[in-house]
Amino acid sequence: MARSRGKNDDGDPTDWVTRAADAAIRQAGEGAELITCASGASPSGPVHLGNLREFLTVHFVAEEVRRRGLPVRHLHSWDDYDRFRKVPAGVDPSWSEHIGRPLSDVPDPGGCHESWAEHYKEPLVTSLREMGVEMEEVSQTSMYRAGRYREQVLHAVRHREELEAVLARFRTKAPATGADDEDAAGGAGREDGGAAAGFDLGRFPYKPYCRQCGRDTVTVTAYDDETTDLSYTCSSCGFTGVTNLATQDEGKLVWKIDWPMRWAFEQVHFEPGGDDHATPGSSYTVGQEVAPVFGWRAPSFVAYSFVGVAGMTKMSSSRGGVPTAADALRILEPPMLRWLYVRRQPRQNFTIDLGAEVVRLYDEWDALGRKAATKRDVATLAWERSVSTAAVGTLPTAPVTVPFRLLSSVADVTAGSPDLMARAVAGSGFALSSLDDLEPRLSRALAWVADQPEEDRTTVRTEPDAARLAALTEDEGRWLAQLLDRMPDELDQDGITTLVYGVPKLGRGLGLDDPPTEEVKADQKAFFGLLYELLVAAERGPRLPTLFLALGADRVRYLLGGTPPGA
Ligand SMILES: [Zn+2]
Repeated sequence: MARSRGKNDDGDPTDWVTRAADAAIRQAGEGAELITCASGASPSGPVHLGNLREFLTVHFVAEEVRRRGLPVRHLHSWDDYDRFRKVPAGVDPSWSEHIGRPLSDVPDPGGCHESWAEHYKEPLVTSLREMGVEMEEVSQTSMYRAGRYREQVLHAVRHREELEAVLARFRTKAPATGADDEDAAGGAGREDGGAAAGFDLGRFPYKPYCRQCGRDTVTVTAYDDETTDLSYTCSSCGFTGVTNLATQDEGKLVWKIDWPMRWAFEQVHFEPGGDDHATPGSSYTVGQEVAPVFGWRAPSFVAYSFVGVAGMTKMSSSRGGVPTAADALRILEPPMLRWLYVRRQPRQNFTIDLGAEVVRLYDEWDALGRKAATKRDVATLAWERSVSTAAVGTLPTAPVTVPFRLLSSVADVTAGSPDLMARAVAGSGFALSSLDDLEPRLSRALAWVADQPEEDRTTVRTEPDAARLAALTEDEGRWLAQLLDRMPDELDQDGITTLVYGVPKLGRGLGLDDPPTEEVKADQKAFFGLLYELLVAAERGPRLPTLFLALGADRVRYLLGGTPPGA
């Protein structure tokens, strides 16, 4: 079994996706009709970039299974039948009245969708589509309310002693905490009810939503195995009622039973989960023992770690400060965002930096694309997984690839003027038929520049700095005169570069193309400082050739004390 690291026996590169797909296929067994890779999420609020890992982990594994010619689906379960737990900051506090109701029954805080759940599902699904992720979506509200799980509910209830024995064992081992906790706020009646019947009804595996007020603040008071009538009282509204588990569909299984039940129902072979789902006593470990009660084996599992986000300077407060896929896609091309997730082992946490680091990230991405054209290794495999999908094919990229570094500089200096941007990019040596050739990258450069703090932005002077121009030293005056004298009307990158570096050489009796002496280097530094001062009223700025190209010869001449435009 000796394998060189990161290669399989055929010498192909292998990564975590390869291995997770291997495991899913093994789990499904020889000749499986359909391999199911499942994700799940509760649409309780904006989906954080960290939770995007849930979706993308499954997506990449399903893609790899598909690449091998096997029948596969990415099943996504929306846990929209989960209770609404708390009102997030920024939402009308009166929404607290909905706490305890299913997310699908809580009104949309923005008033634009059918429900709270739909309000948060939609933007994520839109972003996922943009990233080429297609999945079969299932609403748990629809499934439960349509009675699709009726048999499974009755099965769980019949086996409640057995299930409780599993849960109890884990409960004493390690009490679950945090996100993975059971519906803690729900079952009020743990001490009363049921002890006489031999089963603590506070541990009943199924809980109805109150028929009168819709909340899950109910206490199960009795259950009749003969009739399958479940009696309950509601602590919110005082309602006392009976729901019949064989004929009515008013509630759900508790989470730690619900999840494994669905593995069995949907025949899930692979499902990832956050680190917190994989600790002792948490839902996946418990689920491993619950699943056999439903006649299924727990799916192969990958635990993933946290994703941090940095460099978001102007975050929309309407989204409660949660960085979402849509926020990242304003700045990063969709394949790049895929890449950030696929190139890391799920257990590795990483940070998505949408600030200054973005420029370097684009450089790295472009370099990887060039490498992928000639070489195949684990890094270029990650690139392959990022740029195309089976369903969509190759994701859109700009027909003309211009470094983000240049585009963002151009966007900054021209303040986004389309004509000036087109001229500057063309002058930098990229043949364009229109700015559309630069999409989807250009709009991201513009968005990123707009996000930068004011002190990092470039403001081009509108009028020449007359006072400074009147106080030029002898050297400065000569440099400017040389520059203005030699600057052509049609600027190009190479020409300007030679000129701005060369003018101080002329001053020392050298030619434009001669190598600089130490004196010349000092002069260049002083000259560049002067140019920045006169053009953008700052000590430094974008690269001078980029700045010249963006401004155009007339504007540069005017600001450097030459002839005004049109004169
Ligand atoms: Zn009620």
